[in-house]
Amino acid sequence: MTPLAEQFDLRRAEPMARHTSFHIGGPAEFYLRVDTIAILEQAVSAAWAEGLPCTIFSGGSNMLVADAGIKGLVIENRCKAYRIETPKGDAVNGDTSSAVLVVESGASLAALAGELARAGWSGLEWATGIPGSVGGAVIQNAGAWGQTIADVLLEIELLEKDAGSNKSRTRRWEARQLRQGYRTSALREMPASTRPIVLRAWLQLQRGNPAELKRRLAAYVQKRTLNQPRQPSAGSVFRNPPGDHAGRLIEAVGLKGHRIGDAQISVQHANFIVNLGEASAQDVWSLVKLAQKAVQDRFDVLLVPEIERIGAWDTRARTRSSTSQRS
Ligand SMILES: Cc1cc2nc3c(=O)[nH]c(=O)nc-3n(C[C@H](O)[C@H](O)[C@H](O)COP(=O)(O)OP(=O)(O)OC[C@H]3O[C@@H](n4cnc5c(N)ncnc54)[C@H](O)[C@@H]3O)c2cc1C
Repeated sequence: MTPLAEQFDLRRAEPMARHTSFHIGGPAEFYLRVDTIAILEQAVSAAWAEGLPCTIFSGGSNMLVADAGIKGLVIENRCKAYRIETPKGDAVNGDTSSAVLVVESGASLAALAGELARAGWSGLEWATGIPGSVGGAVIQNAGAWGQTIADVLLEIELLEKDAGSNKSRTRRWEARQLRQGYRTSALREMPASTRPIVLRAWLQLQRGNPAELKRRLAAYVQKRTLNQPRQPSAGSVFRNPPGDHAGRLIEAVGLKGHRIGDAQISVQHANFIVNLGEASAQDVWSLVKLAQKAVQDRFDVLLVPEIERIGAWDTRARTRSSTSQRS
């Protein structure tokens, strides 16, 4: 196979802070943006053949990238084509009450939610305002307002590495094989740099009234605008523990508004950490650890992070001394 660097115009030392919703993250060793599934497959296969770790992302809205950056190839996935398949024979039977959305993994959730609603298809309204992609949502089992992608996911297509040969192959997984749970899945349990790549997803749609669907989207957007901070973040930092809310517990231990460097536990919503300007990944992680310890000590509840640490966290990175704490 032709070496990766000869096949593709790779950027080197691309700052990940340009690509994450936190606006935080050190350099990607090699960086490539892809628009088609064919190129995505070629690039990942070439990287694996060379034994390079390969990390894919789209929205960058659930990642805390290390200050020391990410080793190997980082792929920005912009593959966003989709089609809507209605069951065969519909034209004859007149049954167009359901359909299947076949969508590439880099498609934006929010854009899809809007386009489907305008076309009178229901299934992704909850996703409006989530700044991520279909691939990221599958990994994380993203959701809102009591619904998740697992409710509509039928199947995915994966690119995976053959353990023995480093060669790649595609596979289909039925949704149940993903074992999706609350903000997790079998894929999320694997390290980002070695997990299979989600190429496409098949999602169940139902017919809906476009005006009613658009009203639902507008109501969800309004709720988000009222409740969520505007500064750069990665959404909810912790999963909610059973029967409680991470934000309530963090507020109860007095950490709302607490700062380490330019990372702050949001004054608007205590389960968000926001970047006030120059926050490092280490600043954010120090706040995560602080909140975890305070809640564990006071309530005996272990808060589990919903955001994912990516990259070279074991490398000694820029850290701030405790004297820089301003709360
Ligand atoms: C303001 C704000 C609000 C949010 N609200 C919500 C919410 O209501 N509900 C919710 O669930 N989340 C929410 N999030 C978090 C986030 O948007 C979702 O988890 C989203 O699904 C992540 O998608 P992404 O494309 O940004 O993933 P990324 O951050 O790009 O990636 C996340 C992880 O998935 C992996 N990944 C991405 N694509 C693929 C692929 N094709 N194949 C294999 N691995 C892949 C990455 O390697 C990484 O490990 C919010 C975030 C923000 C900033």
